[in-house]
Amino acid sequence: MPAAFPSALLSSGRSLTLRGAGHSVDGQTVTDGELLVTYAPDTAAAQIRDVGEGLIETPAGMSWYELERYLNRHARAFPVLTDYLHLSVGGTLSVGGIGSNSVRYGMQVDHVERIQLTDGTGASRWCSRTDHPELFRFALGGLGTVGLIERAVLRTVPYHSNSHVHRAQHAALNELVEHTERIAQREDVDIYFASQRGSMLRSTTGWSGSDLQRCGDENCAIVARLPFKMHHEVTRMATQPSDHVRLWTDYLVPAGQLAPMVAAVEALQHRAPLNRGLSALYILIVRRPSDPTQFAFAPVGTAPVSIGLGVYTWIDRDPAAIAATRQVFRDLLARCCELGGRPYLYGVNDIDDSLAERLYGTDLDQLAKLRSSHRLEHINAHLPLVKATVPT
Ligand SMILES: Cc1cc2nc3c(=O)[nH]c(=O)nc-3n(C[C@H](O)[C@H](O)[C@H](O)COP(=O)(O)OP(=O)(O)OC[C@H]3O[C@@H](n4cnc5c(N)ncnc54)[C@H](O)[C@@H]3O)c2cc1C
Repeated sequence: MPAAFPSALLSSGRSLTLRGAGHSVDGQTVTDGELLVTYAPDTAAAQIRDVGEGLIETPAGMSWYELERYLNRHARAFPVLTDYLHLSVGGTLSVGGIGSNSVRYGMQVDHVERIQLTDGTGASRWCSRTDHPELFRFALGGLGTVGLIERAVLRTVPYHSNSHVHRAQHAALNELVEHTERIAQREDVDIYFASQRGSMLRSTTGWSGSDLQRCGDENCAIVARLPFKMHHEVTRMATQPSDHVRLWTDYLVPAGQLAPMVAAVEALQHRAPLNRGLSALYILIVRRPSDPTQFAFAPVGTAPVSIGLGVYTWIDRDPAAIAATRQVFRDLLARCCELGGRPYLYGVNDIDDSLAERLYGTDLDQLAKLRSSHRLEHINAHLPLVKATVPT
């Protein structure tokens, strides 16, 4: 059935999987059954609407790349962009969305005013912090478990094409960790990301819209259109070798807990198959707004400031190597939970019922109630989060 009739498909009762651009990495959008693909940047672009007061309405099937270009042409920007932009608006809002500006602005879902959500009866309603607030809280970051996001109204900020950045190299991982924790304590930074690739340890700290002068810092640079530069770099690096699988995962721990999380990775990264397959560690800081919505399944729980540690591997297409990597990730996830953190659900995570209960508590019961009352049992039913709500 054409995606032009999503409500008919959603209300058909047939098993259905929702998909944006399909870039989540653990089979979230893989199915033998029916797939509803929303990603259609070309047709979506014509439907973007300025609804005033800095708010923009967009179809969920829009790509961030095209949406940000549109906004910039109108002297606006979205506060938080991912490093790779050919992702759908609905897809990243369904996982959370974090990026280099999260150090200032939190998650993408923190900047959603309202969403139009269609449930398993085909009924569509606008949800916000005040209208259907539970659906809003579960849909954003909720992997499509409470229905299809068809449209979103997003808050935007004034556009500044230049960023003032300080790039640093670090001699050792513990030095980078200390540097990151220091930045996490500051409230005057707009941009932060850091990585380890091989022996190269780098961080970038920045400010948007600062004046065009370089400051006295020897590592200072003025960069134009930073989000698009990052996108082109990541596009180059993220191309998948055909005989490998992409096993990526990110853990978000409260600020102050990065050192033990990194120590857990260090202890395992010399063990096969990570010793050959680890391509990068990636670090971001996420500062939530002062009155945050407690999204049920988003990667940041109640911590006001969190630090994300991405562990990105390319593993031989060999079942034993994949199983061994997943075991390493299970150990890392256990450590993340001990440290009060959460997994980022777009990634590779083995979450059994007891771990789901520990991570999400009574929100799992609430998810079961929402799925039952909105007739959603046939939608995204393959997800571990959903399976954890079904009594055995
Ligand atoms: C190269 C690369 C770089 C990345 N960089 C970042 C980054 O910097 N920051 C970051 O936060 N993430 C990053 N990610 C992860 C990315 O945000 C997620 O994979 C995201 O889900 C991708 O969007 P998508 O459109 O591909 O979603 P999909 O993979 O298609 O869907 C993700 C989930 O959302 C559900 N879903 C999709 N669309 C809808 C909808 N309209 N309504 C309801 N449910 C829906 C799906 O069922 C699925 O469960 C990156 C991924 C890749 C591959």
